[in-house]
Amino acid sequence: KKKPADFDPKMVACWEKGERVPFLFLSLAFDLISNETGRIVITDIVCNMLRTVIDTTPDDLVAAVYLAANKVAPAHEGLELGIGDASIIKALAEACGRTESQVKSQYKDKGDLGLVAQASRSSQSMMRKPDPLTVVKVFDTFRLIAKESGKDSQEKKKNRIKALLVAATDCEPQYLIRLLQTKLRIGFSEQTLLAALGQAAVHNEQHSKPPPNIQSPLEEAAKIVKQVFSILPVYDKVVPALLTGGIWNLSKTCSFTLGIPVGPMLAKPTKGVAEIVNKFQDIDFICEYKYDGERAQIHYMENGIVEIYSRNAERNTGKFPDVVAAISRFKKSSVKSFVLDCELVAYDRVQKKILPFQILSTRARKNVVVSDIKVDVCIFAFDILYLNGQPLLQEQLKVRKERLYDSFEEEAGFYQFATALTSNELEEIQAFLDSAVSLSCEGLIIKTLDRDATYEPSKRSLNWLKLKKDYMESIGDTLDLVPIAAFHGRGKRTGFYGAFLLACYDDRNEEFQSICKIGTGFTESELEERSASLRTKVIPEPKSYYRYGEMMKPDVWFEATEVKLPPLLS
Ligand code: ATP
Repeated sequence: KKKPADFDPKMVACWEKGERVPFLFLSLAFDLISNETGRIVITDIVCNMLRTVIDTTPDDLVAAVYLAANKVAPAHEGLELGIGDASIIKALAEACGRTESQVKSQYKDKGDLGLVAQASRSSQSMMRKPDPLTVVKVFDTFRLIAKESGKDSQEKKKNRIKALLVAATDCEPQYLIRLLQTKLRIGFSEQTLLAALGQAAVHNEQHSKPPPNIQSPLEEAAKIVKQVFSILPVYDKVVPALLTGGIWNLSKTCSFTLGIPVGPMLAKPTKGVAEIVNKFQDIDFICEYKYDGERAQIHYMENGIVEIYSRNAERNTGKFPDVVAAISRFKKSSVKSFVLDCELVAYDRVQKKILPFQILSTRARKNVVVSDIKVDVCIFAFDILYLNGQPLLQEQLKVRKERLYDSFEEEAGFYQFATALTSNELEEIQAFLDSAVSLSCEGLIIKTLDRDATYEPSKRSLNWLKLKKDYMESIGDTLDLVPIAAFHGRGKRTGFYGAFLLACYDDRNEEFQSICKIGTGFTESELEERSASLRTKVIPEPKSYYRYGEMMKPDVWFEATEVKLPPLLS
């Protein structure tokens, strides 16, 4: 194994100070990372890679960071590469002078288009050597690819990919393809990238002393970048601010911006009411219904423009034109701008009742027209993060609640405040939980009110606890698992899969870890149906980012594509 210390000299030798950073540098760094498994070593490699970029051409840092995050833009901009395997196969075939069917059959053998690209390039000789790829060139081309739309866009995308592939050398084709497929998966998450960015900045700013009281500047810097990014998840803003104002000023130079979603605060699970009363013994807390709908962060700008963001910071405005049209009706006239944290829940306005999540999920996702809407939603507001030009994230929940209640008026079935109870009586909370469940809610969320009660973006915080009916009746929670392999059925199940290996995605290590084998609980027709859909996902061998016991010998492996709900729920 190469140690991170080997990294710097070899890589820096790739280019002169002031020149654009070669894409090869990034690809070699990816290669180095893919041979490691430890988070600390990987963070060191990424940190060294970023330090080197800052040191030679700081301008390239934004592009390097985006590529390492395998993104072309912040989630809320909704810009995606949008390339299917078919376009990549076409581009690859044309770039390498092969037929599509040759590429396809090699893909079948190797199970990874990146490896196919790698093998194809190494057997190619060039008449004229194209200019070497740079990090900026690749990133700019990716953005152009993402922006292609309309007629012939697939053809144009393919031609751009082809031009990149023709210029790619060494291990570049493999990483180009993986980036294009948005399947970089070399074992590091965005959180590791953010930590490494903070650490790289500390090394870069050795002349500027950290503020007093900081024991470990590297750890503190990692924390600052993660925190800032959860409030302003836009590399185009955070990276330049880091370069000009430095790491120790970053929290001041980057702040909450209306129109850019913050990462939503999340809750930790608990097992029962007694545990809550125990945990929050000397603290005031509020219990709220946990609605089963879709998280929404509604941004209302002074010019009346409304944007709605999902739990993953994606722009959901086009999905809820009814909410966009109605929202200004519920605000008081003194309110000029705000950010609401709320749950959008399917609602029957005739029967005056909440409908289950399954009904909400039948709504179309994009470009919805108000007159076509069949499922109404009610906004259940539980928090306010910004009001009339003032961010409220640092305020205690008690203050935020007061602002929320003072700024809006309820309208039954359209806009309501989350039903809440302030009590520390066990029986009362238990009865409140029962009422929540009887009204089609998932359970309760319990939140600290005036101590440790600031809004913590992107955090699964101990200051928000969730209590679900399911926790008390069965295992802790429902699990989102992905089938990564299967075993052929026998007897009555001959001809389709009889059992599946299910995995859980670990985003810190970017791998799918097998968690259980499941073969019961399916009806024969369910098994037949699942087998048919999964048969199209078979790959020749397990992916490098699958983790499973050595004793596990499934008959077929799948591309990790679908999350299956447990049979009882599906
Ligand atoms: P699950 O899949 O069990 O909902 P999760 O990880 O998606 O888990 P949790 O941390 O369990 O999310 O719970 C927070 C979610 O609950 C929020 O994202 C939001 O969508 C929903 N929610 C419903 N009611 C409330 C409420 N009153 N306060 C905060 N979140 C609420």
